[in-house]
Amino acid sequence: MQRRLQAALEEAGIGVLAVHDASAVAPDETAAARTADEGRGYSSRAAYLLAWAEQPRPPVTASLRLAVPMVECDSDPLPQAAEFGGGGESPDVGERHARAACDAYLAAPALQYAAAREVPAGPPTARLSAALSFGTIAARTVLAAIDERAADRFLLVEERTSLDALRRSLAERDFFLQLAWFFEGSPDAPLQARMRHFPFAREHPALTAWRDGRTGYPLVDAGMRQLHATGWMHPRARAVAASFLCFDLGVDWRVGRDAWERDLEEDDAALATGNWQWIAGVGADLAQFPRVYNPRKQARVYDPAGAYARRWIPELRGVPVPGLTGMPREGNEGQLRLPLFGADPYPGPVVDHERAARDFLRRYGEFRRGAGNAAQ
Ligand SMILES: Cc1cc2nc3c(=O)[nH]c(=O)nc-3n(C[C@H](O)[C@H](O)[C@H](O)COP(=O)(O)OP(=O)(O)OC[C@H]3O[C@@H](n4cnc5c(N)ncnc54)[C@H](O)[C@@H]3O)c2cc1C
Repeated sequence: MQRRLQAALEEAGIGVLAVHDASAVAPDETAAARTADEGRGYSSRAAYLLAWAEQPRPPVTASLRLAVPMVECDSDPLPQAAEFGGGGESPDVGERHARAACDAYLAAPALQYAAAREVPAGPPTARLSAALSFGTIAARTVLAAIDERAADRFLLVEERTSLDALRRSLAERDFFLQLAWFFEGSPDAPLQARMRHFPFAREHPALTAWRDGRTGYPLVDAGMRQLHATGWMHPRARAVAASFLCFDLGVDWRVGRDAWERDLEEDDAALATGNWQWIAGVGADLAQFPRVYNPRKQARVYDPAGAYARRWIPELRGVPVPGLTGMPREGNEGQLRLPLFGADPYPGPVVDHERAARDFLRRYGEFRRGAGNAAQ
C-alpha cells in the first residue's frame, strides 16, 4: 500500500521521504538481517524476536517539521466521545500527554509489568496502545525510555525482568507490523494458506451472549464488559475471550476481530488481525494444534480471588470464590452454576467448555489431515 502510494506520488513529481516510525525496527531492516529466506520477512515469532534484539533502535531525536502549507486551512476541533455515542469525558490525547503517560508508567508501575500483563486485576499495564497506534508516541521513544530506566543500578532482578518483558511486548508489536508489511494479502486471509478454507462458523446461538459478556464464564465476560465500558481489555482476558469465541463456539476469528474493532480505543488493523490469527491457529507459527484456553482454569490461575470478575460483573459481587472461578462442584458435571436469583441473574455456561473444545479439536485434526492429503 505504502509502496504504491510512494510510486504514485513520485510519478506525479512529488518528492517522498518515507520514514518507518510505526515500528521500532523497520520491517525491511530485520528482513535484511535474515539472509536464509532472501529477506522476505518472518512468519515465526521466535526467529523474529531474536533478529529484532540484534537490531539498533536509535531513539527519535527530532520532530519532523512539515512544510508550511501555501493556503491557510481551518481545522475542526477534535470530536468528543459523546458524538459517537460514548459516555463520560474524552480521554486526554496528543504527543505531550502520551510522553507524560509513558514517563509516569516507567517511573514505577513498569517495574511490575511481568505480573501486570498476566493478571487482569493486578498492577496496570502501560496503556500505550492507543498512543502508539495513532502515532502520538513512537515505539522507539518508548524503548529509549525503557533503556534509560533499566540503567538504574539499584533495580531488583524481578524489576529488570519486567522491563525486559515490556521491551518484548514492543518487539511483538513490531513482529505483527512486519507480518502485515511483508504478507500484504487481504487482512481477511489467514496467513497459513492451508487454513484458508477451515469451516469456522459465522453464527452460533451464543454469539450474542459472547458479545454481551454473558457466556457464564466470568473471565470471558469480565473482559467483554471491560471492553464495552472502557474501550480497552486486559491482554489476558483478550486471549481467553478470543479463544472462547474461536474454539468453544467455533466462530470465525474475523467475526471477533470486527466486533472488537468497533469498541477498542486502539486503531491498529495489523495488530488486531495478527493477534486474532495467532489465537485462532491460522496465522504465524501454526502449531500442531491451536492453543485452546480453558476459561475456568485461566480464571483460577490469573483471577484467583475473583477481583477482576467482581469489578466488571456486578451480578457476581456477592458470590464466593469457588463459584466465581468456576470450580467444579459435586454432581454438576463440572459446570459453573451460580445460585443467583436476582432480577438479572448471572447465566450458567452457554456451552460445556471441555466438550466444545474436544469437538473443535477433532474437527481441526480432521481438517488438517484432509488439507495435508490434498497437498500431497
Ligand atoms: C485477540 C487479541 C486481539 C488484540 N487486538 C489488538 C488490537 O486491535 N490493537 C492492539 O494494539 N493490540 C491488540 N492486542 C495486543 C495487546 O493485547 C494490546 O496491545 C495490549 O493489551 C494493549 O494494552 P497496553 O498498551 O496496556 O499493553 P502493554 O501490555 O502495556 O504493552 C505495551 C505495548 O506493547 C504492544 N503489545 C503488547 N502486547 C502485544 C501483542 N500481543 N501484539 C502486539 N503488540 C503488543 C502494544 O503496542 C502495547 O501498547 C490484541 C491481543 C489479542 C490476544
